[in-house]
Amino acid sequence: MSNIQKQTDVILIGGGVMSATLGSLLKELAPEWEIKVFEKLANAGEESSNEWNNAGTGHSALCELNYTSEKADGSIDISKAIKINEQFQVSLQFWSYLVNCKLIDNPQDFIMPLPHMSMVQGDKNVAFLKKRFEALSKNPLFQGMEYSDDPAKLMEWIPLIMQDRPSNDSIAATKIDYGTDVNFGALTRMLFDHLKTQNVDIKYKHSVDNVKRASDGSWELKVRNVDTGSVERHNAKFVFIGGGGGSLHLLQNPAFLKGSISEDSR
Ligand SMILES: Cc1cc2nc3c(=O)[nH]c(=O)nc-3n(C[C@H](O)[C@H](O)[C@H](O)COP(=O)(O)OP(=O)(O)OC[C@H]3O[C@@H](n4cnc5c(N)ncnc54)[C@H](O)[C@@H]3O)c2cc1C
Repeated sequence: MSNIQKQTDVILIGGGVMSATLGSLLKELAPEWEIKVFEKLANAGEESSNEWNNAGTGHSALCELNYTSEKADGSIDISKAIKINEQFQVSLQFWSYLVNCKLIDNPQDFIMPLPHMSMVQGDKNVAFLKKRFEALSKNPLFQGMEYSDDPAKLMEWIPLIMQDRPSNDSIAATKIDYGTDVNFGALTRMLFDHLKTQNVDIKYKHSVDNVKRASDGSWELKVRNVDTGSVERHNAKFVFIGGGGGSLHLLQNPAFLKGSISEDSR
């Protein structure tokens, strides 16, 4: 193992959309900061952010029923839906900024409009969807949302789902035309291409096996070359753990959790 400590300002662990986004934001806000990325696979965006591994919905609570819970009194709590939608507006603004500044090209390669629909069955769920619609559609963020439990209208909206369905089925749907489909894999690759042009040092096939706090408050990382097995130590003022599911292993490290100096657990 090399004991040479390589110093940098920021280390991003993982090459998914989270590290890609934070790295791009940092390069706009503090372009002089030195950033390194360690990704254990051979390319960026190969795990959850890959287009084959997620549904590509631009989550803005237009169709996700879990963001609107029913309270004990039967009313619908839309506070989470509003928060998620507002966060998605910020993502849209950031992507627009990157495109307008020509930091990334061809937005149609990663984002496109797509109607978002929610469909439910059964009297209880239909009643819930109607109340959800009534609560959301009063808010400007959800303007244009339509609700229907009319089989003829639903046939127009979702013919394949409605065909051959018994006419006495209790079924309803909401539809909003300005939903978004996001290719997070393409976006991740675009952002990493951009980061390369900003002198971000991106090391593929490098796994971060341990993170601990140094006595000066900085972070010390044990980084392993996946091909050769050789290990280096890197030190950074700030570390972002964007390792998706792989983050758990690092976050469970007691030395990291305490954020304190402990004996070398390696
Ligand atoms: C089935 C499914 C459907 C989804 N649908 C949607 C959706 O419709 N809309 C939506 O917004 N979100 C959706 N998501 C969630 C979304 O895909 C994730 O939130 C997002 O991709 C996470 O990005 P990330 O960068 O945190 O993780 P990842 O893209 O998983 O990136 C983490 C990277 O870290 C690397 N790594 C891990 N550990 C280490 C380590 N120790 N050292 C170095 N590298 C490491 C991994 O190899 C990986 O490349 C879905 C997820 C799944 C699983």
